Amino acid sequence: MTPWKSGRHSSATRRRPRRMFLGFSLACAALLTACGTPSSSSGAPPAETMLPAPVSLPAPSVGLSVGRETVPGEAEPQLPATVVDYQGEQVTITSIERIVSLNGDIAEIIFALGMGDYIVGVDSSATYPPERTKTLPNIGYQRRLSAEGILALNPTLIIGDEAAGPPEVLAQIRAAGVPVAITADPPTLDAPMQKIRFVAQALGIPQRGERLAAQVEAEIARARDLANRISNPPHVLFLYLRGTDVQQVAGSRTPVDVMITAAGGLNAGAEAGIAEFKPLSPEVVVAAQPDVILVLEKGLESVGGVDGLLTIPGLADTPAGKQRHIIALDDLYLLGMGPRTGQALADLAIAFYEIASQENRP
Ligand code: ZN
Repeated sequence: MTPWKSGRHSSATRRRPRRMFLGFSLACAALLTACGTPSSSSGAPPAETMLPAPVSLPAPSVGLSVGRETVPGEAEPQLPATVVDYQGEQVTITSIERIVSLNGDIAEIIFALGMGDYIVGVDSSATYPPERTKTLPNIGYQRRLSAEGILALNPTLIIGDEAAGPPEVLAQIRAAGVPVAITADPPTLDAPMQKIRFVAQALGIPQRGERLAAQVEAEIARARDLANRISNPPHVLFLYLRGTDVQQVAGSRTPVDVMITAAGGLNAGAEAGIAEFKPLSPEVVVAAQPDVILVLEKGLESVGGVDGLLTIPGLADTPAGKQRHIIALDDLYLLGMGPRTGQALADLAIAFYEIASQENRP
């Protein structure tokens, strides 16, 4: 389902010297929530020296640039600007004075383009950059928007991606005469560049968009290059958790499947025959036998951290459970397909590499 699904852990791995990765072990340490505390019955070697046990992921790693907020480019936005939205409709933008962003990834892109000062409202999935998004008026969750709250901000441009809705609300806003520019957001690694170019075009700064897109594309390529050096890809099970009420496994045809695969892992959910999201069950856990469990930070918190996670039936007996190979990442960072996608991929690739190497130890 993705172009990277198979045949990518090739001979390139064996030709590269191991020491290339020594510089990356610190980043990995920051990433793994818990590591190297094998259960007493397990004969696995301790790994404390490599991987201590901090809790979640701070800024990345690997010499890739960290969270840029400005990109030099055109002095002034060129307006009016015209974009073609995801349904093929032309949208003309005459003012970007007051922008409402409907999605977290879109807000992050606007900030990355250096245009954050024009935003007057964000949705609740907009969490990056935290110090800026926190202080902006909130229009609620991207999929459950209401027209009143948005129009009350007197926007001159509403911009979002196809996750924004419901459609009636967007129609209501259009009927009020405010331009609504909605981009496609396919679950592919092209999505970040596609969305960046769309947003930059709508804001009248296409050159800045090209520059940022090229930067992100290069970071993604670099991360995939790291991923391609993993010779024995770990089996990675992604769990979507909201306490004990919602516990789901990601299979094929999910954005996280794209991320796991591109970072050099095998999606254990997909391997267990799951498509999209299915409820977690002991049978799935047994079938999946993950080397790594990947969760969202909020999800891990909702089950009481790593110890709570490992009380979910079956998990403690998997290789991931015995080694406490749990990776927790922020949801917008891991799944947003935004400007930090290359960094997220690199973090995953480094962690997968470290885990794969531990399993090789005598
Ligand atoms: Zn989105």
